[in-house]
Amino acid sequence: MARANATWQRLYVTADLSADAALPLDDKQAHYIRNVLRLNEGADLLLFNGRDGEWHGAIEQISKKQVIVRLVAQTRPQQSDGQMSPDICRDIWLMVAPVKKDRLDYLAQKATEMGVTKLAPVITRRTQNAKGGVKTDKLIANVIEAAEQCNLLSVPEVDEPRKLADVLADFSANEQVNEQAKRHIVFCDEEAAIGSGRDALPALKGQKLALLIGPEGGFDDEERAMLEARGDVTCVSLGPRILRTDTAVVAALALLQSQIGDW
Ligand code: SAM
Repeated sequence: MARANATWQRLYVTADLSADAALPLDDKQAHYIRNVLRLNEGADLLLFNGRDGEWHGAIEQISKKQVIVRLVAQTRPQQSDGQMSPDICRDIWLMVAPVKKDRLDYLAQKATEMGVTKLAPVITRRTQNAKGGVKTDKLIANVIEAAEQCNLLSVPEVDEPRKLADVLADFSANEQVNEQAKRHIVFCDEEAAIGSGRDALPALKGQKLALLIGPEGGFDDEERAMLEARGDVTCVSLGPRILRTDTAVVAALALLQSQIGDW
């Protein structure tokens, strides 16, 4: 296995990665390498695609028209779930009510760094930045940039915004159809009693999780009742202070990763 150098630029690509492959970068990445980083032929890069691990490559050709990278050797294998202990939660979705653009960009990056496998914007009754305000392609760009910068081998999926009730209906349907698809919802409720949920977390070890965080205005009573009535929901308090949505995302993921995740 070749050794990676921490100073090499990391790029997420969609192409297959294998020894001696010649990869033309897409226009955006070619521009970044050529005009922003001003790298030259022979410069070293690290590439990953979420399937084939991480590969060391060198710029073979750089012109106004294109940048071609020649793959040299794999530097890290793609982690397989099997290599992680079975009793940790290694598949955590983030279902979050969209907030204003700059904070949404921030929480997309932080959720990626904190290890979520999917970012799913959910529209609740009090969501201000509803469907129209969420630019999914911008969220995708944010999670890719975060994955490149924090040494990840995969990039979280990003869903289009959907109504909370529709997302929950899918969970119920999946639960009946497919044991494998079962996913437990960790519902962060600012009105929950302090400390609630903490003792329930260990029982979730090894399960697939979906963390649910509300909008700046919180969940309304009907949404809260709908969630509390379900059998696949654990309600968790994040302490006595009301956290902003983007703060709650980081705090809740720190709690999950440290208690039952991969920290
Ligand atoms: N309802 C509150 C209000 O209107 O001031 C604020 C909601 S808070 C800004 C946004 C979301 O973060 C909440 O819906 C909840 O999911 C999460 N959150 C914030 N503070 C929390 C806490 N202390 N415990 C659990 N969840 C919290």
